[in-house]
Amino acid sequence: MHPEGAPGDRLLDDGILQLLDGLNLRKHSASVLGALVAAMPRNERLPAVVRTAAKYTAKRCERESMVLPGLHFGQSGAVWALLDAARALADPKLMARAVKLATEIPIVSTNPDVCDGSAGAGLTVLHAWRVTGDLQFLDRAAECARHQDTDQGKYGFGHGIAGIAAFLLDYALVTDDKLCRIKAIRLADALCDGAMWDRTAARWPSGPGESIPLGGWCGDAAGVGSFLVRAWLATGDERYRKVADAAAAAVRADQWTMATASCHGVVENVEFLLDMAEATGDGRHRDWALKTIGTLAWPDDAGLPVLVAALVRMVVPGAQRLWMPPLRPS
Ligand SMILES: [Zn+2]
Repeated sequence: MHPEGAPGDRLLDDGILQLLDGLNLRKHSASVLGALVAAMPRNERLPAVVRTAAKYTAKRCERESMVLPGLHFGQSGAVWALLDAARALADPKLMARAVKLATEIPIVSTNPDVCDGSAGAGLTVLHAWRVTGDLQFLDRAAECARHQDTDQGKYGFGHGIAGIAAFLLDYALVTDDKLCRIKAIRLADALCDGAMWDRTAARWPSGPGESIPLGGWCGDAAGVGSFLVRAWLATGDERYRKVADAAAAAVRADQWTMATASCHGVVENVEFLLDMAEATGDGRHRDWALKTIGTLAWPDDAGLPVLVAALVRMVVPGAQRLWMPPLRPS
């Protein structure tokens, strides 16, 4: 987008500097840490800052008397970022602390969702297994999967069945567990059935019986689409791709009326469009992501780290989406 460099280049460097200078360790140390680790190939100042931010984040987690499971409002997101930091820095001491914290995340919760509950913990222990190869994390993921209540509920990724299904699908792909695969597919079908169509765009209300689309990643198209595109890659079922494409159309149409935040704003939408571009090879999704970024006002504090991570994905080959299961789990 910028005449001086590759798409997103200038904004990425400005964003990294903003994170370095305004390193907000109190409110968002986990998300800042995640973004800085992702951007490490980009800036030589980053390893030292990552080390500082990781130590702060680890100490903060170790002090916590009540560990909550959620990926976004619990400890899981911070542990995920610490695992990534320890791997990127090749720091065995930090890795030991991150692993210990990962073993302390409660796996069973009265809340089954990603943001606050056990699906977030499940995704995190699968990530811990990917980073460390330690089989105890697969055992914990199995326990989490056994307790997932998938009967019905809200649709969205953050607080509903799209996120729960994403965990079950990731677990099924890793372990070849048939029952979890069936459950995940059943939820993918329920999400396709629950889509509200507006010509070529698909949106989701909070749950069955509701009629107002929620907007955003946590409850609507960007999150549901993020799961459905993974379900399409895992199963080859074209219905999932079609609905994920329609979710991308909704995200593109709605960007003009959305906040710049990450959770239910424009920034997480960009990540979804990059998922679609990567999964389908359809360059339109990447163009839409670039257009969105090109017209984006500076995001708020919570959105900036996610935007930096998204821009890293555009310019650093092999960079992954933060706090999401991989598109093609091995
Ligand atoms: Zn939200």
